[in-house]
Amino acid sequence: MAKIYRLERDRLDNIEQRHSEQKSDIFTDYWFKQKKESINKNIIEERRKMNRVLMIGAGGVATVAAFKIAQNADVFSEFMIASRRKEKCDDIVKAIHAKGYTMDIKTAQVDADEVDQLKTLFSDYQPDLVINLALPYQDLTIMEACLACGCNYLDTANYEPKDEAHFEYSWQWAYKKRFEDAGLTAILGCGFDPGVSGIYTAYAAKHHFDEMTHLDIVDCNAGDHHKAFATNFNPEINIREITQKGLYYKDGEWIETEPLEIHQPITYPNIGPRESYLMHHEELESLVKNYPTIRQARFWMTFGEQYLKYLDVIQNIGMSRIDEITYEAPLADDPTKTARVKIVPLQFLKAVLPNPQDLGENYEGETSIGCRIRGLKDGKERTYYVYNNCSHQAAYKETGMQGVSYTTGVPAMIGAMMFLKGLWKKPGVWNVEDFDPDPFMEQLNIQGLPWHEVFDEENEIKD
Ligand code: NDP
Repeated sequence: MAKIYRLERDRLDNIEQRHSEQKSDIFTDYWFKQKKESINKNIIEERRKMNRVLMIGAGGVATVAAFKIAQNADVFSEFMIASRRKEKCDDIVKAIHAKGYTMDIKTAQVDADEVDQLKTLFSDYQPDLVINLALPYQDLTIMEACLACGCNYLDTANYEPKDEAHFEYSWQWAYKKRFEDAGLTAILGCGFDPGVSGIYTAYAAKHHFDEMTHLDIVDCNAGDHHKAFATNFNPEINIREITQKGLYYKDGEWIETEPLEIHQPITYPNIGPRESYLMHHEELESLVKNYPTIRQARFWMTFGEQYLKYLDVIQNIGMSRIDEITYEAPLADDPTKTARVKIVPLQFLKAVLPNPQDLGENYEGETSIGCRIRGLKDGKERTYYVYNNCSHQAAYKETGMQGVSYTTGVPAMIGAMMFLKGLWKKPGVWNVEDFDPDPFMEQLNIQGLPWHEVFDEENEIKD
């Protein structure tokens, strides 16, 4: 598309040059005016196509991203939402229009596990960028379809196979050459963590350190949704993540821990001390690779006592299992008959747990996510803490969703904006810290996730 646009521009330049070289009369003047207008129209049309975005998924994160896209209609000229159930996409559009945003948003049904269905949709709509806000299971099918149809790609979570609770970037990094050869950009992990956590780190490296040696990503949800037990994003993905073994990086090695084995209180701004648990988190993998001076990198997340008690029970009674079990169930339309069905216990649990999208209304309190970094500047030791606090109620008032969806959906929109503005555009597969953090940091302040900095405060987190 960029090529067509350039060719049209060149044609226009040629016509203008020829026109200025020739002696004009009324007829040629009129002809050149018409020609110029028609080419200008084509240029506008091509530009418009270049800002055509297709978002896949219609959950909590997608709802927030859609609101933010509608609020930035000067950048996002055409927009479609597609998901497994079209009615969920239509509900998002209704909610956006009910808040007074007038953007014309198309919707469609697609099963993103099926590359052929994705290819049909992408060929019909011809998006310049596909934003993947479905589940990590669909990352590779969507990347395949993007390559087949010449679309750029952005997501917020790295690929996970359905039958194994294990995530790492190798599967998606393997696409680097194919995206390079196709001249397409893929931006990985552009939520908050991963996402803003990587951008904070890149910003620290660019502006505040000569050498970063220690990185602690600290993620606190001090909110209360008044439910006995609920997860803040997709329960299946969330429980798979939390029940995994912990992993952190020290002196060139990855050290594994039992799930949630290491914990300590960490103080969060405006919240106070909260017990925080060391977990494996995907951005550590790319950050230690991109910043090789980092000697220690860890990720911490807070959990309340009640949450952990329920999680323990869920695990002990087998409800967090991700393998299939056979169950004999009555038929929905004839309960006198039964059928043997396969059930994945964790997927069944998801069906009965509160939907994270419905938590917003009664959610109080705030989240606080940031990076605490240690290293050297001008030969002296320096500590740097950069963070955002996000109120669940403010997020709900703006988008109908709680703070965790908000802190993920806003960066996804900003990443898309960076791409459409040509600021984050280079063929290949990239993590967010591979791009210039400055324009992104500027937008965080504008789009609802302002950040704050603390310099040279003693780092309370023990090594
Ligand atoms: P939800 O479960 O609320 O939404 C996922 C959406 O994807 C749903 O609308 C679902 O459809 C749709 N979907 C699932 N499978 C398919 C499929 N095969 N084809 C088409 N659509 C499908 O999840 P969230 O909104 O909470 O999370 C979205 C993504 O954001 C996840 O990948 C999650 O891991 C990531 N995330 C990233 C964070 C970060 O900071 N980086 C933080 C939080 C989440 P249906 O509605 O029919 O179920």
